[in-house]
Order: sequence, then C-alpha cells, then structure tokens
Amino acid sequence: MKSHLDPMAPPIPLWPWLLMTLILLAINEVGHRWIARRNPRPPDSPSTAQEEFLALDRCPTCLHDLMHVASDPADGCTVCPECGGAWRLPAR
Ligand SMILES: [Zn+2]
Repeated sequence: MKSHLDPMAPPIPLWPWLLMTLILLAINEVGHRWIARRNPRPPDSPSTAQEEFLALDRCPTCLHDLMHVASDPADGCTVCPECGGAWRLPAR
C-alpha cells in the first residue's frame, strides 16, 4: 500500500491547492469591494485604524486609555503613560 510517507510515492501536486487559494482570495476581495461599495463611509468618519483608536481615546500602539491623560499645552500632544507614544487627540 502506498502512502504519502512512502519516499517512492509520486509527489502530491501543489497547483490545485494554489489555484483554489487564489480563487478563494479573489472571491474574498470581490466580496469586500461589494460590501464597501454598498456601505460607503460618512465623510467625517475616521479613515484609518489609528484615527479610529484616537477617536475612542485609546493609544493606537498599546490601547491604553488616554481619556484622563492631560495633553501637553506646548504642542497639544498627549503622551501615553504606558508606551510613551505622543498623539494628537481629536477635539472633543
Ligand atoms: Zn501607548
């Protein structure tokens, strides 16, 4: 009986798996574009993940809560006490 562990067995072709992966990725991409076209973002919504975290008063690097951290009056940046990242929070 031949098994996949038999060194004399013919190699398992990879192209069907690669082709199936490409087809699934293409279906995924088409689905994402279809959903994005049907649900456009409001013009004033955050466009990046960084802006979305800052809009929630969260540090985009470590997710530390920045709500009660005072901003530096000199440059307007809020320094995260957890990771040291400096962020300009959106106006509240
Ligand atoms: Zn941080």
